[in-house]
Amino acid sequence: MSGTVVSAVGLERTYGSGETATRALTGASLDLAAGELVVVRGPSGSGKTTLLNLTGGLDRPDGGSLAIMGTDVTAATPADWVQLRRSTIGYVFQAFALIPHLSAAENIELPLRVIGTPVAERDARVAELLDAVDLGAHANQRPSELSGGQQQRVGIARALANRPKLLIADEPTGQLDSLTAESMMALISRLVHEQGVAAIVSTHDPKMSAAADRVVELHDGVLGVRPHGRHLA
Ligand code: ADP
Repeated sequence: MSGTVVSAVGLERTYGSGETATRALTGASLDLAAGELVVVRGPSGSGKTTLLNLTGGLDRPDGGSLAIMGTDVTAATPADWVQLRRSTIGYVFQAFALIPHLSAAENIELPLRVIGTPVAERDARVAELLDAVDLGAHANQRPSELSGGQQQRVGIARALANRPKLLIADEPTGQLDSLTAESMMALISRLVHEQGVAAIVSTHDPKMSAAADRVVELHDGVLGVRPHGRHLA
């Protein structure tokens, strides 16, 4: 299908082996389209991080297949995969993961430096992103001088710097108060739609699903099945 950014079929991941093995993900299949925000919901330990790490290529599945932009990444060499990751995927982290001694603008600029974007183009893109996340007035401040919500907006801008096709955000609102968290999800949703990025965002908070185009639920490593006798909504 055109517009398909991620096609995951039957992903499996087991940690450890023998008696202590944990089957973290079982037969997970998921498609993500350009411009679509999918929220993955589920209690702690249900496999959300595992699913996002596999989808974003930070870990490899034990079974199943994963294609990103039509490339079968389960068959790619590690070097090809790093290349694809850098040019195609942006990551947002729960703990922001900003570089403390760099300003907001410099943090956003970093991925552009890594791929050797020319200075003028870099400057223009950083200004555009600061504007998109409403941080123009805070460009020169360091992370410690920004609120949690502002830091996560820097994190989102940085993730989008290289114009990724896929945005992976693992509990991006986990360290924010609920009001800030809701506005962060709305921001991610707006940027995903404006920039035509496919996004997969995990949360354990049901309230964070409002901004999603689609919500999938994980329970004990199984996607989309509601647990018996337990209410997740
Ligand atoms: P969630 O993100 O929903 O909290 P995770 O994907 O982190 O869930 O974890 C799913 C299951 O896999 C849990 O039982 C967890 O304890 C286990 N797990 C996760 N990472 C590891 C690991 N590196 N080694 C062993 N078990 C792990």
